[in-house]
Amino acid sequence: MEQKLFVYNTLTRKKEEFKAINPPHVGMYVCGPTVYSDVHLGNCRTYISFDLIFRYLSQLGYKVRYVRNITDAGHLEGDADEGEDKIAKKAKLAKLEPMEIVQKYTVGFHDVMEELNILPPSIEPTATGHVIEQIEMIKQILESGYAYEVDGSVYFDVEKYNQNHDYGILNGRNLDDLLTNTRALGGQQEKRGRLDFALWIKAKPEHLQTWPSPWSLGFPGWHLECSAMSDKYLGQHFDIHGGGMDLVPTHHTNEIAQNIACCGKMPANYWVHTNMLTVNGQKMSKSLGNSFLPHELFSGNNSILNKPYSPMTVRFFMLQAHYRSTLDFGNEAMEASEKGFKRLLNAWELIDKLKASEKSDVEINLLMQRCYDAMNDDFNSPVLIAELFEASRIINSVHDGKMKIDQQNLALLKQLMKSFVQDVLGLKNEQAADDDLPQVMNFIVDLRNEAKQSKDYATSDKIRDGLQKIGFQLKDSKEGTNWTKI
Ligand code: AMP
Ligand code: ZN
Repeated sequence: MEQKLFVYNTLTRKKEEFKAINPPHVGMYVCGPTVYSDVHLGNCRTYISFDLIFRYLSQLGYKVRYVRNITDAGHLEGDADEGEDKIAKKAKLAKLEPMEIVQKYTVGFHDVMEELNILPPSIEPTATGHVIEQIEMIKQILESGYAYEVDGSVYFDVEKYNQNHDYGILNGRNLDDLLTNTRALGGQQEKRGRLDFALWIKAKPEHLQTWPSPWSLGFPGWHLECSAMSDKYLGQHFDIHGGGMDLVPTHHTNEIAQNIACCGKMPANYWVHTNMLTVNGQKMSKSLGNSFLPHELFSGNNSILNKPYSPMTVRFFMLQAHYRSTLDFGNEAMEASEKGFKRLLNAWELIDKLKASEKSDVEINLLMQRCYDAMNDDFNSPVLIAELFEASRIINSVHDGKMKIDQQNLALLKQLMKSFVQDVLGLKNEQAADDDLPQVMNFIVDLRNEAKQSKDYATSDKIRDGLQKIGFQLKDSKEGTNWTKI
């Protein structure tokens, strides 16, 4: 790769030059949603951040295998084996099958990802689809001596593991420190140590999603699914593992312990964590009741919002902050983003109208490298956006005749805007898509009227009925034919 990329690694707590294990291939695993409710804007921030990373690595020429799982079983209300299963609880309340809940919220999640122009991962495995792999992993951890069984449940022995390894390696904390700061939680009467966590949980009779195993009819612990699925699709040692930073102390700490106990290898080289979207400085979270749904923003249907914001404005708002900084959500910040995004779009639209001159007042390759420099510095999207505003200033100046640009630099400027606005930031011109619609519809209406005039009623009816089916109604009057969106 020509560019030197630096990535902040939670594991070493510093920025390191990115070296792929097997270039040009890169394996990246990101913890996906638990599909028991709609994803909120906070969750979207994390997936937009990894979409940016996925897109930039691809832009650099890496072939990324991006695995982002769906948690469709085994995630209890608390992270430490306490409370009810989130999906089962929802299913009981709604009198539905757990997999009906899973289906509903997986479809909703995919819709939101598409609206925000978040690319689908290369593989999207589910926990329920990998119970066999999880059982095999538990067997290996038992064999290595770092787990024990009590009455049909299997627990990871943290203190024993820590005698030979460093359990708190990810957040740089030692075991004594962790022990004094941990409350006694679920399954405590069976656990040997307060930090031990469940690999397999024997199901109570009323539990809804269960599987047979050598230990009991039960279900796997939440942390195990990511260990088993990253191992299956990316191997024992891969490049990047990511998620929100709230996953560091428990979920990712336990994942590392499981993989090392099972296979003797640190699963990933680079641990990348996104910071939180906040509301008035507090983490946006469903349980705190301060979460916003993407659709509330797109429709403006929330009493706290002054107006609706388009999906691309929301995406731009998220990208204006570095993924490791907190970002506070509010009307003023959204309005500022809307203005900024419009400014960028206006310049982008003008680019095709620019005329090349013999001479050039600008050197776009310098600006192009500054865009790469921004992204090479731990995916610094706000600095990249500042460079793109500089590109916009150049576009506007050339358009207004205040600056000259030659053919070569103009071609490079077009390439810069396409690569960084469209391919890396994943922004698109929503207006343009809508603006094309009247032209396309008028063309179809003309075709249909031509068919009608030449008495080809089969074709004219086919067009009218076909449009009706996809949500457009044609109305004929003396003045001509009008179309409306139903
Ligand atoms: P969950 O469904 O709560 O497990 O969260 C799914 C993903 O969203 C995880 O990677 C979380 O770290 C992340 N996440 C949850 N809340 C926020 C937030 N307020 N801001 C950014 N990411 C979040
Ligand atoms: Zn995970």
